[in-house]
Amino acid sequence: MQVHEEIFKRRSEGGGSIEIICGSMFSGKTEELMRRLKRARIARLSIEIFSPKADTRYSENALVSHNANSISSMQVSKASAILAPGNQVQVVGIDEAQFFDDELPAICNALANNGVRVIVAGLDMDFQGNPFGPMPALMAIAESVTKLHAVCVVCGNPALYSYRLVNNNGQILLGEKESYEPRCRLCYGL
Ligand code: ZN
Repeated sequence: MQVHEEIFKRRSEGGGSIEIICGSMFSGKTEELMRRLKRARIARLSIEIFSPKADTRYSENALVSHNANSISSMQVSKASAILAPGNQVQVVGIDEAQFFDDELPAICNALANNGVRVIVAGLDMDFQGNPFGPMPALMAIAESVTKLHAVCVVCGNPALYSYRLVNNNGQILLGEKESYEPRCRLCYGL
């Protein structure tokens, strides 16, 4: 049994928890978040999903992964807005967590301490290979951390870096295949 499924079982006994799904772009983070949320929905748990307003690549109210499966979500401009889900919410999903402010770890802790199962997906590193936003702090306080890998487009090995193809040094540059490609450690340094 995988760690997060054990947590899932404990949740039904009343305890909250934090689960992190991290990795590079194109590693399937959002798909994994959606897989867990769909299972929670089948278990008839009440769910709320949040994403940061900064991520405007797709539709306003849908959590969209690259394979275009979607679950409706709420876009919020700051982490503290996540603290006010409905009273009966049992599972909170958070996507693109790297774009949230530094209050997010405390917000997730508060939810988990109140019995909520919190599932967070986000980029662990920016395009320069540095820890991204609140992700390292979240990973430190979580019950479980799942690190996913994409496939290196140069050599085919597991990829952990999001290599930026365009010449722009800002930490946030929204884009898909035209702006980034997944690369392994060796090919990232080429
Ligand atoms: Zn490679």
